[in-house]
Amino acid sequence: MERCDVLIVGLGPAGGAAALAAARAGLRVLAVERRQNIGRPVQCAEYVPLSLGAMAQRTGAEIQRVHGMRTVLPSGAETENAFPGLMIDRERFDAGLARAAQEAGAEVLTGCRFLGLDRENALAYCRDGGGEKTVAYRVLIAADGPASPVAAAIGLTRLDVVLARQIVVPLIKKMNWTEVFLSGDYPGGYAWLFPRGERANLGIGVERRAAGRLGELLRALHQRMSEEGRVGGTVLLRSGGAIPVGGPRPELVVGNVLFAGDAAGLTHPVTGAGIHPAVVSGELAGKAAVMRLSGREGALRDYAGEVRELFGASLARAVRRRREAQGPGDGAMRRSWVAFREYWEERTG
Ligand SMILES: Cc1cc2nc3c(=O)[nH]c(=O)nc-3n(C[C@H](O)[C@H](O)[C@H](O)COP(=O)(O)OP(=O)(O)OC[C@H]3O[C@@H](n4cnc5c(N)ncnc54)[C@H](O)[C@@H]3O)c2cc1C
Repeated sequence: MERCDVLIVGLGPAGGAAALAAARAGLRVLAVERRQNIGRPVQCAEYVPLSLGAMAQRTGAEIQRVHGMRTVLPSGAETENAFPGLMIDRERFDAGLARAAQEAGAEVLTGCRFLGLDRENALAYCRDGGGEKTVAYRVLIAADGPASPVAAAIGLTRLDVVLARQIVVPLIKKMNWTEVFLSGDYPGGYAWLFPRGERANLGIGVERRAAGRLGELLRALHQRMSEEGRVGGTVLLRSGGAIPVGGPRPELVVGNVLFAGDAAGLTHPVTGAGIHPAVVSGELAGKAAVMRLSGREGALRDYAGEVRELFGASLARAVRRRREAQGPGDGAMRRSWVAFREYWEERTG
């Protein structure tokens, strides 16, 4: 049996940040990641706000800067907003964070899958190439993404998600902005073209009920973009994934189990931006574990409070906008997308 102070399940940005924070404080940290290679395959459009700039630099993940976001409405009308940020290499970002955690003393096990939990005895069951292992933990941080096997093991409800598909394509005309396409064809989601130097991420996310059409929609979008001479016709890479869109899960803490990042439902339900909240909540979860294990009784409860205070209002607004009746026209889209004044206005009466 392995023993640790803090067991971290999943080494995306939330798990990496949690492992780093807890290991830096001297705790015995074990982080398990089911993938053999941290960060690979990349399932992300790779945009982060400038606030993650220092971390992107430290991990060698910065690819290029973007100054703004262009939004294309169903009518074809375009609008541009200042949305300064960075395009990053997600694999380098996630791997760099995990490496920093290792350097701070965390033990990292890749190719190791969390299987189940005996919460009463604070035991987790995992399996890697060497077989099954039992891990005795004092605090467990679930940073295991939108499907959160830890949440499932506890019996918590599954998070509502949007499903996405993405291709990496050659970028013919360089861009220093991100581009978003709103359309009735993309219910509950949108399409994007995000630059990465000489390549671009081209993707679409939609509600589950429309997911069967994702392949066809993405092919049509790719064809249109290549006919317009903006991207090349070759597909360099394919990926996809799920994006939580229902807001924070009601239980951010269950006993001595904390949820962070996508596992906690912290991704923005309208934009799908989840790297920043994953890093912030991961770090807070790591620090909460440190405080709890140094004797502060309410530290884990305080974690839930801090997360809600930081992200609650913005996530609640985004959830409301998604729920409101939507239509295919520009007007309805303006109310449901962050680039427009209508999104931020509260209607009275
Ligand atoms: C197509 C797409 C595009 C996106 N684009 C952006 C974007 O441009 N900007 C942005 O900010 N956000 C974007 N997001 C969202 C962003 O990727 C997530 O919010 C972010 O990855 C959340 O980080 P996390 O650490 O919480 O979870 P994850 O990154 O999902 O990490 C969870 C980790 O847990 C591991 N794991 C799962 N189950 C187990 C298990 N049983 N045992 C061990 N390990 C396990 C997984 O392998 C994974 O490595 C996008 C998402 C998708 C799907």
